[in-house]
Amino acid sequence: MLAKEDGTEKKSDRGKRTVREKQKTEPPRMKVRCPLCKWDHDWKPYWACELCDARFDTFVTKAHCPDPTCGNSWELTWCPRCGNPSPHLDWYVKEGPRTS
Ligand SMILES: [Zn+2]
Ligand SMILES: [Zn+2]
Repeated sequence: MLAKEDGTEKKSDRGKRTVREKQKTEPPRMKVRCPLCKWDHDWKPYWACELCDARFDTFVTKAHCPDPTCGNSWELTWCPRCGNPSPHLDWYVKEGPRTS
């Protein structure tokens, strides 16, 4: 006899379910930036596959097309801001022991 559902303890009616769930946008684990113009990648899908038209974030897929049946991949990554290509790996900012 556990079910006590008769109005005695009103289901919390203060604190409407505290929306405090850690507001999304978890920080990406690495920093990515255009080696040419220093644009900071903001983790949006700026890239598209010319073969299958998929739209994706090339730093999430590591320069591979997200469509497994397509299998396209790229060595160069074009900057959405300055429009120049750089080797994909050059985009990753190595965060060393904090230089000032
Ligand atoms: Zn593709
Ligand atoms: Zn750039």
